[in-house]
Amino acid sequence: MRLPPLLHAADNMLLRRVFSPRIEVRPRRSIVSFTFDDIPASAASLGARILEDRGARGTFYIAGGLISRADSGFANVPDLRRLSESGHELGCHTFCHRGLRTMSASDAAADLEANARFFNDALGLERPSNFAYPFNKGTLSGLGSLRSRYRSARGGRCGINRGATPAYQLSAVEIAQPEANQLDDWLDDAVENPGWLIYFTHDVSENPGPYGSRPETLDRLVAGALERGHEVLTVDAALDRLGVGS
Ligand SMILES: [Zn+2]
Repeated sequence: MRLPPLLHAADNMLLRRVFSPRIEVRPRRSIVSFTFDDIPASAASLGARILEDRGARGTFYIAGGLISRADSGFANVPDLRRLSESGHELGCHTFCHRGLRTMSASDAAADLEANARFFNDALGLERPSNFAYPFNKGTLSGLGSLRSRYRSARGGRCGINRGATPAYQLSAVEIAQPEANQLDDWLDDAVENPGWLIYFTHDVSENPGPYGSRPETLDRLVAGALERGHEVLTVDAALDRLGVGS
């Protein structure tokens, strides 16, 4: 289904409430996933190292078109190979990094295939299993393409995933600047009431951009998740843990 432009704002809500297939999120112990979009070089280096130093791994949503730009500040192909070899998950974030709702369904399908080819040809990897919407903008017109290719799609609605959850509009909590002072409260909330908490950010730097994280914040959240007894898993491993079929 393709909505007229005036109804685009309803896309996320309709996906979340009506059209997306559901997964059951009822873990005995909360799951926390740390995810990075695009991805800046600092996410692949410092972000990954913070997770690895705590024995954890993250999900990095890759737009091949950004990675292919020279001198762009984005991670490069060797960075991505190292992430994969270290046990991190590489997900799809479109190839061109345009919002799916700006594309026709056939253009969206072609773009997702271009990113799958990037995974195969440049990285030597299988096609990615999970997706994150550029700009967190979900779209009904792309839902068929997403369902046939990925287990999940992460949106930007703030919250913890619990109970019957729309697989193609997963909620997430953003780590951005200026930093929200209740970022840690979500970890406490997940102690009280188990669920799946997904954080997302972009660069990881002492001087982060508006959509990035300071390293101490990321480290505090990873350590805080583990100290509270949460499992820190990639998105793909979380879906396995929740018993979601491939
Ligand atoms: Zn993005």
